[in-house]
Amino acid sequence: MIHSVVTERKILELRGGRNPVNPEVPGAFFVEPEATAAGPVEDVATLFLTNRECPFRCLYCDLWKNTTTTTVPPGAIPRQIDHALERLPAARHIKLYNSGNFFDAQAIPPDDHPEIARKVAQFQTVIVENHPRLTGPACVRFRDLLHTARREMDSHRVTPLPSHPMEFEVAMGLETVHPQILPSLNKQMTLDDFRRGAEYLKSHGIHARAFILLQPPYMPTDESVDWALRSLEFAFDCGIRVATVIPTRSGNGAVDALERIGEYTPPRLSQLEAVLERAIPWNRGRVFVDLWDAERFRDCPHCGAEQIRRLDEMNRRQTVLPKIGACPRPGCRRNSG
Ligand code: SF4
Repeated sequence: MIHSVVTERKILELRGGRNPVNPEVPGAFFVEPEATAAGPVEDVATLFLTNRECPFRCLYCDLWKNTTTTTVPPGAIPRQIDHALERLPAARHIKLYNSGNFFDAQAIPPDDHPEIARKVAQFQTVIVENHPRLTGPACVRFRDLLHTARREMDSHRVTPLPSHPMEFEVAMGLETVHPQILPSLNKQMTLDDFRRGAEYLKSHGIHARAFILLQPPYMPTDESVDWALRSLEFAFDCGIRVATVIPTRSGNGAVDALERIGEYTPPRLSQLEAVLERAIPWNRGRVFVDLWDAERFRDCPHCGAEQIRRLDEMNRRQTVLPKIGACPRPGCRRNSG
């Protein structure tokens, strides 16, 4: 099935240029609504921190485009957090995503961890992303820093605010449980690594989130929904409490090269819908589909916006909503299945 495995050297050769970035400013920051573990939709401050590129070079990854080639100066990450939080509306939860691994010391200097913890101590939930193989004692140390910072903050309040238990969550890429495709993605991770990472987090009172790819390179299009569902099942079996399914996109060089030779096909929104429609009723945890750049996966220019609105609403409500009606446009791929 896999005809052309792409080596790490080739992945690097196929890359285009990086975007200019400023180590004092996050690449992006915004507030987005998300269904919480307790049910209601609440705002999440989402920061994409600027830092050194991830040392893993996954075949499908394009996050390196907005990273630096060297470690950012001491204090830069806390300053980036200040920069974003000074400009964002209030939110209860925060994602500190960093186009890599929060516990990669070359990306986020560990000496900055105490200050980062102080900057985010007011949030009810703090979510970071990390490779399963880098998931270990550093996560527990940061969890303790968060709790210490929260206690210090509470002790300085004149009027105590209603207190919520602080929750720490680590998001890890599972990508796919397909036995031939996972090793071909250069993720340098086995299913046992993921399971160990999730169990380690759980045993230390840290929540886990999973990222799953819909239709990664080499995946036959008629099997991709099924493999995404199998991957979700595996992640929930490992004890994660929330998962996001990401339609695999081209644009990093390597995936484009595979698309040209028929080893990657862009997924369609109707496949994303099928995954969400089948996974939400399991009630095993929250399941989201990633709608960033969703227009590129439209089945049809006429009804794509309506599909995206439905998916967005299903993300928020964690309920399967009625399908949108048949599209009047001749040739709509959603109608033709
Ligand atoms: S581990 Fe994550 S950030 Fe690093 S290369 Fe893979 S997908 Fe990209």
